[in-house]
Amino acid sequence: MQDDIDRILFSETQILEGIDRVAREVTGRFADRPFTVVSVLKGSCIFAADLIRRIPIPLELAFVGASSYGGGTVAGDLSVNFFPAGHEIEGRHLLLVDDILDTGRTLQRLKSELLGRGAASVSTCVFLDKPSRRSVELEADLRVFEVEDLFVVGYGLDYAGRYRNLPFVGALRQEIFSAPAQDAPGPGRAT
Ligand code: 5GP
Ligand code: MG
Repeated sequence: MQDDIDRILFSETQILEGIDRVAREVTGRFADRPFTVVSVLKGSCIFAADLIRRIPIPLELAFVGASSYGGGTVAGDLSVNFFPAGHEIEGRHLLLVDDILDTGRTLQRLKSELLGRGAASVSTCVFLDKPSRRSVELEADLRVFEVEDLFVVGYGLDYAGRYRNLPFVGALRQEIFSAPAQDAPGPGRAT
């Protein structure tokens, strides 16, 4: 698996230092109000797990599921296939947590769906931000790192379902994603 990585962009140590910083920002922002961290499955589960353990104030945890159709490295149509229960959203301050902010379509859609379902507020926090790729007007309220326009994997981020378990973030070697997939997943993939 490690042989498929061209170069490491963020080591495990750098990642945890970055998350410590953002956890302090979240703590300051929500110190005066109860809130819920809403982790976007599947990619953000590892980030969310490390982030919440560094936030020393009361919070709740919920998940939302979004899939983009198309597979590979290009996002297709988005479908939201799993929502928290109504009582976990209505009147609550939400911190929507995702692995990477790319075009912005996923977070923009989820934010408006959650507000439409009665959330008191929706703030956003992303592990990685690729500002050069944005196609909609959305900036994250909090982010750990900015990345250049490379396809990255590890620390929750996948390619064709794999590499989420790498403890660091790396750029995938070009040959891996330009080769025809051997055992490609179905058309829908969890982001
Ligand atoms: P957006 O809706 O902002 O275009 O896309 C967000 C989703 O696209 C992310 O949650 C992630 O699943 C996927 N994505 C975008 N860029 C990358 C990347 O460099 N690597 C991986 N593994 N996924 C990415
Ligand atoms: Mg994702």
